[in-house]
Amino acid sequence: MTLAEILGPLVGAEHVLGPEKLSLRNPGWCAHSLDAGLLVRPADAADLSAVLKATPGVPVVAQGGVTGLVEGTASAPGEIIVSFERMNRIEQIDPAQGVALVGAGVTLAQLDAALEPRGLMAGVDIGARDSCTIGGMVSTNAGGIRVLRYGMMRASVLGLEVVRADGTVLDLTSPLMKNNAGYDLKQVFIGSEGTLGLVTKVALRLFPRPKAIATALLGIDPQALSDFMPRLRLALGDALAALEGIWPDCYRRCAELQGVTPLPVEAGPDGPGLFLIVEAFGTDDGAAQSALAEALVPMMEDGTIRDAVLAQSGSERARIWRIREGAGVIGGNDVPGYHYDVSLKLADLDPYVQQLQARVAAEFTDISVLVFGHVGDGNLHLSLMLDGEVPPRPAVDAVVYGVLAGFEGSAISAEHGVGLEKRAALEAYRPAEVLATMRMLKAAFDPEGRLNPGKVLG
Ligand SMILES: Cc1cc2nc3c(=O)[nH]c(=O)nc-3n(C[C@H](O)[C@H](O)[C@H](O)COP(=O)(O)OP(=O)(O)OC[C@H]3O[C@@H](n4cnc5c(N)ncnc54)[C@H](O)[C@@H]3O)c2cc1C
Repeated sequence: MTLAEILGPLVGAEHVLGPEKLSLRNPGWCAHSLDAGLLVRPADAADLSAVLKATPGVPVVAQGGVTGLVEGTASAPGEIIVSFERMNRIEQIDPAQGVALVGAGVTLAQLDAALEPRGLMAGVDIGARDSCTIGGMVSTNAGGIRVLRYGMMRASVLGLEVVRADGTVLDLTSPLMKNNAGYDLKQVFIGSEGTLGLVTKVALRLFPRPKAIATALLGIDPQALSDFMPRLRLALGDALAALEGIWPDCYRRCAELQGVTPLPVEAGPDGPGLFLIVEAFGTDDGAAQSALAEALVPMMEDGTIRDAVLAQSGSERARIWRIREGAGVIGGNDVPGYHYDVSLKLADLDPYVQQLQARVAAEFTDISVLVFGHVGDGNLHLSLMLDGEVPPRPAVDAVVYGVLAGFEGSAISAEHGVGLEKRAALEAYRPAEVLATMRMLKAAFDPEGRLNPGKVLG
C-alpha cells in the first residue's frame, strides 16, 4: 500500500494531497516546503494521532503558515507534510480567565479579528500575521515588536495540546496561570520547531488592547543606547511597548524602497548614528503622547537624543512604520542577500555592527550590510546585500558568526529559530555539552527521529 492509500481512510481522501495538487500550492517562504509531494490535513489531534500510528517511522514535517525564515518547513520525498489548516477553529475566548483556546491552524490575524471587538489582543504581533499560525508561532517561540512589553510567545502560552511522535495525545491545555503540578511539559515543545511534538491546540493568554499608542522617531548616537534604554524604561514603565532600531544605510534604503520621504530626523552629524522608533501605550491619545514626551524631553535637553519627531496623527505614525516595514522587503525573497537574526547585549549592539561592517569590507567586495532590529530586546536583523559576485553562504556565515562569537552571551538566532539554515552555526557556536543535552531531549521525545528530521540538530 502507498502512504496515500494508508492515509485516505484515516482523514478522508480529499485531505490527502499528492504532487499534482501540491504543484498548485504556494510553498511559502521556503522553496522546498512541498518537495515531499504528499500532504495530509488532519481535522484534529485524534486524526493526527491515527496518521502517526498508521505510519510508524515515516518522517513528518509540520507546516503552519509557512512563513518561517530558516527553512524549517523543508520536506523531501518519502516524508509526509502535516498541514494544520483544518484546525482553524477558535474554540473559546474567555475574558474572565484572560485566555483563548484555539486550534493550531488559526492565523494570528484571524485571532486578532475575533479579539478586537472584545477589546483584547494577543501579546505577540509579527509582520507575517495574515498567514502565520498560532501553532507555528508556538513552535518557533515567535518574538516581534512587542517583546519588551509582553515577552516572546513562551510568555503567552498557558497550555498546549500536543501529539507525540508515536501518536500519543498529551492534553496540557490547562488555562491556569499557576500550575506547578510536576514538570511543565509544554515548555519543552515551545520553540522546538516541530522536532519534539506536533502542537494541535493552544491556550493563549490575552491582554487588554491599548486604548492609545504614541509613536516617536528619534536620532541618537548608538553609543548612547546603554544610557538611553534604562532611562526610557524607568520613565515609561509598563507603557513602553516597542523600541525598534534602524541603522542609517538601512533607513535610507527602506525609505527608497517604500517611496517615502524620510522624516526630518538627523541621526547625528559626527557618527554613523541610529534611528529609533519608540512606542508607548496610554489610556487615551493625550495620556500616551504626554507620557512619551515627558520621557523623551529630558534626554533631548541633555543631548542623549539628538533629534526627534513625535507623530501627531495616525498618518504620521503610519509614515514612520512604513519606513520600518521596508526592512521586511529587504529581508524578503525578491532581493538577493543573506539574512541573519542575532541577539546581543544592548551595549554590544553597535560595536558588533561596526566590527562586522569592517570585516565584511575587508573580506568581500560588493556586499553592503544593512541593519535593523528589535533593539530594545537586543535583536538585530542583518541583511548582507549581494550587489556583485555572490560569495558562498558558508564563507559569509563564518564572518557574521565569527565576529558574533567575540561578544559574550550572544546568540546565532534571536527569534527565527534554527531550521536547516542555522544548523551548522548551532553546531559551531554552542558548547558540546549543551548540544549533547539537546540530543538527549530529542532522543527521549522522538526516538525514531521522525519529527522534522534534520532540522535544528543534524
Ligand atoms: C514578513 C515576515 C515577518 C516576520 N516577522 C517575524 C518577527 O517579527 N518575529 C518572529 O519571531 N518571526 C517573524 N517571522 C517569521 C515567522 O513568521 C515566524 O517564525 C512564525 O512563527 C512562523 O509561523 P508559521 O505558522 O508560518 O510556521 P511555519 O513557517 O509553517 O513553520 C515554522 C516551524 O514551526 C514548525 N511548525 C509549524 N506548525 C507547527 C505545529 N502546529 N506543531 C509543531 N511544529 C509546527 C514547522 O515545522 C517549522 O519548523 C516573520 C516572517 C515573515 C515572512
